[in-house]
Amino acid sequence: MSINLRGKDPVIIAGAGPIGCTFALYLAREGIPVLMLESEPELPEDLRASTWHPPTLDMLDRLEITEELISTGLIVPNYQYRDRRTGEYADFKLADLGDATKHPYRLQTEQFRLTRIICRILEGMDNAEVRFSNQVTNVSQDADSVTVTVETPDGSEDIRGSLVFGGDGANSAIRRKASIEFEGFTYPEKFLVATTSHPLEDHFPGLAWVNYIADPDEWCVLLRCNNLWRVLFPTPPEYTNEQLLSDDYIQTRLHFLADKDGDFEVQHRTLYNVHQRVAKNYRIGRILLGGDSAHVNNPLGGMGMNGGIHDAVNLCEKLMIIDRGEADDDILDLYDRQRRIICKDFVQSQSIANKKAIEAKDPEAHKKQQAKYMEAAADPKLALPFLRRTSMIDSVRDSYEIQ
Ligand SMILES: Cc1cc2nc3c(=O)[nH]c(=O)nc-3n(C[C@H](O)[C@H](O)[C@H](O)COP(=O)(O)OP(=O)(O)OC[C@H]3O[C@@H](n4cnc5c(N)ncnc54)[C@H](O)[C@@H]3O)c2cc1C
Repeated sequence: MSINLRGKDPVIIAGAGPIGCTFALYLAREGIPVLMLESEPELPEDLRASTWHPPTLDMLDRLEITEELISTGLIVPNYQYRDRRTGEYADFKLADLGDATKHPYRLQTEQFRLTRIICRILEGMDNAEVRFSNQVTNVSQDADSVTVTVETPDGSEDIRGSLVFGGDGANSAIRRKASIEFEGFTYPEKFLVATTSHPLEDHFPGLAWVNYIADPDEWCVLLRCNNLWRVLFPTPPEYTNEQLLSDDYIQTRLHFLADKDGDFEVQHRTLYNVHQRVAKNYRIGRILLGGDSAHVNNPLGGMGMNGGIHDAVNLCEKLMIIDRGEADDDILDLYDRQRRIICKDFVQSQSIANKKAIEAKDPEAHKKQQAKYMEAAADPKLALPFLRRTSMIDSVRDSYEIQ
């Protein structure tokens, strides 16, 4: 199959989420014509991802947007694993990663900050177009092109492209229309995220801006995002959405975490289904998947969006190799192998393990896990490999070693 990225048909991107946007900007900066189709009338103000790992910041730096992204958020030099009952905590210092990255810290900022930055840049480029209220509903391909069907306010339209990238999230129309299975499972419980301006740091001595707080009865994750705390809790599967989103329920959960007089001011509350799924293929001919369309995982460790950005960059690098005439389209199967295998072997297994560790009910298992974190944090020989793994530095390196 011959792929001409500079012909009359653009590269089509379904979805202007963080992964579609990264993919679009990378190719647009290389002079490739791109057309991004977003179903919403404007960029969604999505509050899901907030944690950006060092290799992701390094990659976005190649697109010259890391500095601006950092200016929207909070640099987090350390993160902690806490035992809610004893107050003990393991403190991991990301400065130890100084030799492995230009950005030895986590950035805390909402995922929509990236999409806004990128769409603004794309708007100023002659070879890039972003269309809103364009919902992709179908895709087909022949030997020379793909055809993407979109529903727009003016009716239905078929658009030809040199290839299509499904950046259209977990319910991807591209993935479904290409009949690609999404193998895995969905957890019975939902995760609740509540955002509060209350200074939770007053309740926990030495609180870092990112915390995984284990407790046999009620674990949670605390993430600082700009001047707010986001608290992520698991919820009982037998409760209705209405009950879980009620003031009563949220106030009770927050008071259990940090008791205080009166109600917490709660700015946002959202419930999320939690899945562990990986697409059976990331590539079929001219149809490519990346980000949540290709894989979803629980958010413990902050690896969904980060891993998706690593997909987008890996794929763009290979497309540019094809563009330079240095490889044929078989190299896209290498993208599929590298990113799908690393997702299964690392992101899926690590996120499942993170959830098991934080929710351990057996007091002995719980104590042992906390002791392991404390030992690793206290010993530089153990801390460095731990930080390299949890910051996704190793998974990026390992993915490129897959043949
Ligand atoms: C509570 C929570 C916290 C999280 N925290 C983190 C974190 O800290 N770090 C991390 O790395 N990950 C995190 N994640 C995961 C992260 O949010 C996702 O991995 C990320 O949003 C995936 O980006 P995406 O661009 O692939 O998909 P999405 O962000 O879902 O974007 C898809 C885009 O496509 C559009 N779209 C959908 N269907 C169509 C269609 N048919 N046609 C056109 N457009 C369409 C949508 O409107 C959307 O704009 C978290 C997830 C949750 C639930």
